Amino acid sequence: MKGKRIAIIGAGPGGIAAGIALSQAGFDVKIFEKSSVVTPLGGAIILNATGIVILRKWGVDVNDIFAAREPQFRRHDGHVRVKFELDKSLLDKAGVTGWQSGMMRAELYERMLKVLPEGMIETNHTYVNHVENDDIVQVNFANGETYETDLLIGSDGINSEVRQQLWGYSEAKHLGIAVWLGWCELDGSDRNNIIIMHDRKHQFGFAPLIYKGKNCYEWWFVEKCTETQEKPDDVMAYVKERVGHFADPIPKILAHTDPNHQLFRWVVKYREPLKKWSKGRATIMGDAAHPTSPYAAYGAGMSIEDAFFLAKFLKGKNLSDLNELQEGLQKYESERLTFTNKTTAFARFLGKFYHGLPQPLAYMRDKFLDNSSIPGKGISKGYTDEAQSVLKGILEE
Ligand SMILES: Cc1cc2nc3c(=O)[nH]c(=O)nc-3n(C[C@H](O)[C@H](O)[C@H](O)COP(=O)(O)OP(=O)(O)OC[C@H]3O[C@@H](n4cnc5c(N)ncnc54)[C@H](O)[C@@H]3O)c2cc1C
Repeated sequence: MKGKRIAIIGAGPGGIAAGIALSQAGFDVKIFEKSSVVTPLGGAIILNATGIVILRKWGVDVNDIFAAREPQFRRHDGHVRVKFELDKSLLDKAGVTGWQSGMMRAELYERMLKVLPEGMIETNHTYVNHVENDDIVQVNFANGETYETDLLIGSDGINSEVRQQLWGYSEAKHLGIAVWLGWCELDGSDRNNIIIMHDRKHQFGFAPLIYKGKNCYEWWFVEKCTETQEKPDDVMAYVKERVGHFADPIPKILAHTDPNHQLFRWVVKYREPLKKWSKGRATIMGDAAHPTSPYAAYGAGMSIEDAFFLAKFLKGKNLSDLNELQEGLQKYESERLTFTNKTTAFARFLGKFYHGLPQPLAYMRDKFLDNSSIPGKGISKGYTDEAQSVLKGILEE
C-alpha cells in the first residue's frame, strides 16, 4: 500500500517493538534481519515501568512480570548509599509495584513476537544500502534482493549501517568497562529491591526475577578493562576473586550460577551522540541512534519508547507525502533526541565515576558517597527524574 509502507532494518528489541507499534498504527511493515533466526543476546534484562506500560498497551503479556520496589546503591558490605526517589502515585497509576522489573531477554522476545503479525520478519536479509528519490526508498540487501518502501527505519544496533549511510562513519569507542551478565535460580530474602553494590573498583548488581514460574536472580558485574582484554579461562574463579567478599546474597548467587550457560561478558563500546537522526525518507532508533552503556540499564527500554513515539507521531500520515512524513519524523526526534542523549551521557559518566578514577580520587569518591546525601540525590535524579516524566506523559495520553 503506497503511502503506508515502512521497512525496518534489524529485529532486536527496537525493531520488533517498532513492528508492533507501527502495524498497530495502521502501517504496512516489514522487518529485515540479517541473522537466520531472531534470537536475543544471552541473559536477563531490566525494564523500567515505562517499558512495561508500553508493552501492556500493545497487548504484550507482562502481568506476571515482577517489579522490584526500589533500586538502591549500596557499599559492598551492605551499607545503603542511595535510595532512589520515586513518585509512588505515578507507579500506582502505571499499575506497577516498583520502578524496574527483571526479565529474561528470551522471554521478552517471545512475548513481543506473540503480538507481532505473522510473516512480518524477513530473516537472512543484510541491509547494504538504500537509494532514495522524492517518492520512494529502494533498500538493497546482500542477498541481491531489493525492497521498495516509503520510510526506512534503521534499528540495526550499535554498528548500524543505516546510521553510517545517513550520517557518515563514527568510531565505536571503548568505554573502559566490561560487563558480565549472569542469572541463577535461587530463592532468597532480598527480593524487594534491585541492589547495586560497589567496592572501590567493582560493581555487583542483582535483581529478582521470575523465570518459568521459578524465583531467580539476574546479576551483573562491572569492572574496568582495556579494549583488548581477553576473557579469563576460569570465569567464575575470576569473578569470585573480585566480588566474592561482597555481602549476602552475592556469594550464594555466584555459587548457584552455571558459568557455562548462565554467564555472558561484553566489553562496552559507545559512539558520540548525533545532533540529528532523520534525513529524507529514513531515520534511526534504538542503539543505532543512541547506543547506551549498560550502566543505564535502559537501552532496550529506550528502544521500546522510540517505537512508541514513532508510531504516535506517524499515525494517520500519508508517507508518500514527504512533508507529512518529515513532520512526523521531526516530532519523533524532538521528543527523543535530547532525552536519550542526556541519558546515555549520564550512564557514561557513571561508568567513569565508578571505574575510571585513579585510586586517590576513588577513595575520596567513596568517602563522599558514605558521608553525604548529595551524590546520592544526584544519582537518583539522573536515573529517574526525566524517565519518570516520560512515563507521566505516556500515562496522560
Ligand atoms: C551487558 C549489557 C547489559 C544490558 N542491560 C540492559 C538492561 O538491563 N536494560 C535495557 O533496557 N538495556 C540493556 N542493555 C542494552 C540493550 O541490550 C540494547 O540497548 C538493545 O539491545 C538495543 O536494541 P536494538 O534493537 O536497538 O539493537 P540490537 O539489540 O543490537 O538489535 C539490532 C538487530 O539488527 C540486526 N542487524 C544488524 N545489522 C544489520 C544489517 N546490516 N541488516 C539487517 N539486520 C541487521 C542484528 O542482527 C540485531 O538483530 C544492555 C546491553 C549490554 C551489552
